[in-house]
Amino acid sequence: MENRNLSKLQEEINETFELHKQHALKLRLSTKEERARKLSKLREWIKKNKAEIRKALYADFKKPATEVDLTETYLVLSEINLALKNLSKWMQPKKVKNPITLTGSSAYIQYEPKGTSLIISPWNFPFQLAVTPLVSAIAAGCTAIMKPSESSPHTSALLRRMVMEVFSRDDVALFEGEVEVATMLLEKPFDHIFFTGSPKVGRIVMKAAAENLSSVTLELGGKSPVIIDKNANLEDAAQKIVWAKFMNAGQTCIAPDYLMVHSSIVDPFLAEVKNQIHKMYGSKGKAIAKSKDYARIINERHHKQLSRLLSDARLKGASIFFGGDTDEEVNYLEPTILTQVTEAMDIMHEEIFGPILPVVTYTDIEDIVHTINSKPKPLALYIFSDEQFVIDFVLSNTSSGGVCINDCIVHYMSPDLPFGGVNESGIGKAHGHFGFKAFSNEKAVLKQRVGMTPAKMFYPPYGFAEKRI
Ligand code: NAD
Repeated sequence: MENRNLSKLQEEINETFELHKQHALKLRLSTKEERARKLSKLREWIKKNKAEIRKALYADFKKPATEVDLTETYLVLSEINLALKNLSKWMQPKKVKNPITLTGSSAYIQYEPKGTSLIISPWNFPFQLAVTPLVSAIAAGCTAIMKPSESSPHTSALLRRMVMEVFSRDDVALFEGEVEVATMLLEKPFDHIFFTGSPKVGRIVMKAAAENLSSVTLELGGKSPVIIDKNANLEDAAQKIVWAKFMNAGQTCIAPDYLMVHSSIVDPFLAEVKNQIHKMYGSKGKAIAKSKDYARIINERHHKQLSRLLSDARLKGASIFFGGDTDEEVNYLEPTILTQVTEAMDIMHEEIFGPILPVVTYTDIEDIVHTINSKPKPLALYIFSDEQFVIDFVLSNTSSGGVCINDCIVHYMSPDLPFGGVNESGIGKAHGHFGFKAFSNEKAVLKQRVGMTPAKMFYPPYGFAEKRI
């Protein structure tokens, strides 16, 4: 960006931030009805613009319309409905018990809006991941400045239109643009920063937040493993894994990243995987490329990155069990299953974030735990097994943001479960009440009776107190 444009943008950011700072003070007093009105208006806009949302996502990476409805629009509408239903309960101060030493006083937690917030979002679910945290910010009574991804420009432009049509400028604002825009925004002393993206940029965000001691929610990524135990139902497991992996062309933060399959069932399981890919997307090669149900890789840069992972794995001895076709002209990459995979390959260390699925085998459950624990803590972990011992063993010996047993991805849809990672895969939780709390200060309030306080026993001179402690 030219210097002149940069300084104009800086001015605009400064001005918007000041507006938000002032407005946040008013929002502290906002009622349930006022917040609900904004959420309802947002809901109406989304319902009215369903076709526009589909169009934008198709233009960005040919995301199939049904996937848009299900994983972008529907999820946001559910989040709004949940907030509308629970807003008064969430906003209500929560009474807590007092110890005997505070007899006579009352204590409660007041959910105070944190104030100004910044929401930085990625390109892979560009509508949903920008708007879901916005719903939490509005429910909690915060202002929000949004910075969607430059890699999904059609959706970003639509989000900008949405913000302009639904909200006043001092309430919600949006800045499109690349890293430099995010950097300028991150210099501002926001009360809360909600970031969704890669662990690499998460570190940059957290460092910037530290300068102002802004609180953060970091929704990051990682390598989510899938365990397929020897007694799993292979057809069921393959069907669920194929859908979860190849939906959005694998560009999902909680997509299965690599499979660990018990060596005794690897052949029938892989045959079932192949069968399921055919069933969902058509037969190999051209049919899949023509399927209107299969998305594209977001851009050339990411397509190259995936091709690099594939070449590295092949060079180091991996075999392509299925797929491997690419068309860089249109950022197409066929659903690809790799076998003969080893830890020497980059694909076992970098988040794949695309339709390549490496398969490793195991015989001993201890080895699974060792492999998972040798990598950063994942965002999600999946186990297909009907043996409670295996499930319990993996649950208690590994750490991950979430776990889904005998399914993949769908834990994201449970509004009462916190969504988020742990360390490398994220800090803080989102969705529903957890999202509301992320944007709220849980203020501790204790009300004492006039003239009363047990602390009096311990006022100086300390002689009396010393005998009693
Ligand atoms: P990214 O980290 O490259 O970008 C995310 C956002 O950060 C974008 O808006 C981008 O403009 C901005 N950004 C990029 N560089 C920046 C910098 N130096 N300073 C400040 N801001 C910067 O991520 P992406 O490629 O858009 O998305 C993919 C990643 O996001 C994957 O790692 C994936 O696992 C993760 N992700 C996580 C979740 C979750 O809910 N946990 C959801 C979706 C994606």
